[in-house]
Amino acid sequence: MGMIIQGATGDWEVVIGLEVHAQVSSNSKLFSGSATEYGADQNTQVSFVDAAMPGMLPVINEMAVEQAVRTGLGLKAKINKYSVFDRKNYFYADLPQGYQISQFLQPIVGEGTMTIELKDGEIREIGITRLHLEQDAGKSIHDQHPSMTLVDLNRSGVALMEIVSEPDLRSPEEAAAYVKKLRSIVRYLGTCDGNMDEGSMRADVNVSVRKFGDELGTRCEMKNLNSMRFIQQAIVYEANRQVDILEAGGKIKQETRLYDSVKGETRSMRSKEEAHDYRYFPDPDLLPLQFDDAYIEKIKADLPELPDEKKARFIKELKISDYDAGVLVAEKEVADFFEVVAKGRDAKLSANWIIGDFFGNLKRTSNTLSNTPVSADSLGALIDLVKDGTISNRTAKEVLEEMFDTGKDAAAIVDEKGLKQVSDTGAIEAAIDTIIAANLDKVEQYRGGKDKLLGFFVGQVMKATGGKANPGVVNQLLKPKLDG
Ligand code: ADP
Ligand code: MG
Repeated sequence: MGMIIQGATGDWEVVIGLEVHAQVSSNSKLFSGSATEYGADQNTQVSFVDAAMPGMLPVINEMAVEQAVRTGLGLKAKINKYSVFDRKNYFYADLPQGYQISQFLQPIVGEGTMTIELKDGEIREIGITRLHLEQDAGKSIHDQHPSMTLVDLNRSGVALMEIVSEPDLRSPEEAAAYVKKLRSIVRYLGTCDGNMDEGSMRADVNVSVRKFGDELGTRCEMKNLNSMRFIQQAIVYEANRQVDILEAGGKIKQETRLYDSVKGETRSMRSKEEAHDYRYFPDPDLLPLQFDDAYIEKIKADLPELPDEKKARFIKELKISDYDAGVLVAEKEVADFFEVVAKGRDAKLSANWIIGDFFGNLKRTSNTLSNTPVSADSLGALIDLVKDGTISNRTAKEVLEEMFDTGKDAAAIVDEKGLKQVSDTGAIEAAIDTIIAANLDKVEQYRGGKDKLLGFFVGQVMKATGGKANPGVVNQLLKPKLDG
């Protein structure tokens, strides 16, 4: 469902288009051999090319090109067999070249589509306009010297993919779902690590509003948003700001605005009218990129199974619900974990355990899947103990907590604590007989039609056996005796 803003003059529709910058997973930069590792000391990963020393020449990183093609294929987009690098000219302290090498008229990847799924299960197709390769700039540091701005060039020249969407998104939720899905796909592909808090993925958010059925309105762009929360907050604020202006009879100025996450508002940075003329022109130091079919086919043949396909397979072959499948495929690590647990086991039961108690315990112990103290095999072994009746479902929940806290496996905990479920009919029958004898009045009432009392009897038997009686066996033996 789209976001609707109710104004005095009627309902307004919100229109959003995103430009996502995704850092290419590659050990070296787009046109130099410098390292790209996150968190290195300032200016330790800078070659003469990245520092734009006179006479230095860029050399294309083949791996980065392949990653862009792989991402394009993952987005079901058209791969352009011929693409060109252009210089985008502007002056800034963190841009020593005086231009950014980017792609303008002929990007490496053309149109594609991505599906997003919303909370209510609605599926929407979002158009991808293009994906192009470009260099990142350095970073100006304003808070380490009282009177000077310092520059760190570690990021200078790092390979970015700019992925541009059509203005197809209609609400903050859709925008967040889009970025999440994009992040999921690039992580599956291994083309970007998607870590927004490390700046590996950030979004420029374009927002406009219009009356339903009208032409697109004038948009404003908010640059460099690096969290799902900020993206959504910025859209809500900006859309309302625009409606207020329009309702008051004003006009929207097309401009770049800054989202201030502390104040929760956007403010003008520069207007499009005074926008730079970048004077794009093809970079004379770089040849156009040209691919043949075999090159593209080879990358295509190597693509992993992506989240949409994996979800469809989980539903079809493993018969788990649409919802569960969606949760399990969102992160590749979770999907892989699930497949190990579900192998040779009841897939529905495995999904329930992972999504429920396993995730719950991860959260409780402040762990993530990458450092889980309970492996997929250990969780599987616990599920086996439930399935074969060794322990009850309820006991298993306690055992799992203990597994998280001690790192021991399920069988050891069950042994140590004597948690084995009693399925021995003799022992259970004896307990039932004792309880019936002590509660003859309730037996009368039960026979007189008070069916609910069955629960009371089951509870008493469980209590008498220290919670270890197999509830299935208890029910089986109890009913005929009560019915007389
Ligand atoms: P520019 O080259 O100025 O960045 P583009 O046409 O490439 O402009 O568009 C950039 C982004 O703005 C795209 O993601 C696009 O979907 C989005 N966009 C374009 N028009 C609108 C609009 N009227 N409302 C919201 N988003 C828009
Ligand atoms: Mg733009």
